[in-house]
Amino acid sequence: MENKLIDKLRFYMMNAIDENKDVDSNVIIDIIDILINYYKLESWVRNINVTINEEFNNNMLSLGFYNWYDKQMTFHINAIKYFVENFSNSFSFAIPEKKYFTYCILLIAILHEIEHANQNRVSESDAKDLESLIIQNSVFIDTAKLLEKGYKVEDIEKHCKKINSKEFQKENYNISPIERLASIKALDTTYHIFDFKYGKEKTMSEMSSTELILNIVISDIKFYIINNLNTAYKNGYDRFISPTITYIQRTNPFADLEEILAKSKGLSPTERIIYGLQISNNEQAENENKETTNGKILIK
Ligand SMILES: [Zn+2]
Repeated sequence: MENKLIDKLRFYMMNAIDENKDVDSNVIIDIIDILINYYKLESWVRNINVTINEEFNNNMLSLGFYNWYDKQMTFHINAIKYFVENFSNSFSFAIPEKKYFTYCILLIAILHEIEHANQNRVSESDAKDLESLIIQNSVFIDTAKLLEKGYKVEDIEKHCKKINSKEFQKENYNISPIERLASIKALDTTYHIFDFKYGKEKTMSEMSSTELILNIVISDIKFYIINNLNTAYKNGYDRFISPTITYIQRTNPFADLEEILAKSKGLSPTERIIYGLQISNNEQAENENKETTNGKILIK
């Protein structure tokens, strides 16, 4: 990610935090505008809705939502505040930390949905790099191509109905490469924005108390999200799966996996974890060990 965007977002966030600005629709729209302009996503984000008091279901807590069809983005301020309250308690944050945590979570939620808009753009493009292939095969079923190959209309329709159902999406959310990549990118950008120690090459003693707190907050969030991503590899007691390949097989049984596997040759274990591809049992054990013993994170 280019420094220009990091600087812009950091400047906006730090001002908002300093001014004690409450998270409202103006703040959300300001941040989204910066991102849409930077990534040129105007055609993939048609409208932004912000709900303030909408009821939400605790089990299906969604901070934001991107509709791939009408390209509308929605954020639920109530849900963001609820999430912040709950997690501040479990991380035992004091009041100033909570303020930064709120903005970190808001930024992660916005960047996540922006990444879905970007994935929508990629799914319509004919890019053939590994990430684009993974995205295209996870979201798109080319009906015309399948008919050409001799598949029956009713079989294709039946399958599309199944993968669009709430049950299917809920069951496979955890292993979805679309979600994995959006989470990782959102976290990575947020981490760069608030990682004053590494971003500005500062030592701990050169950091202000605000910067110190932000570093602690963002490390906690990172630790939490990476642990979640790791669970996607577990399938039973001692079996590990590739979440991405499993997801594509379930969602798009007509996908060309060979092309994806060919493009993924020679990747490092870290890169394979980012894409949700197969890693060996040893690498998995090593990864988990790092996570649990010293909070070290593979993904940077
Ligand atoms: Zn998502």
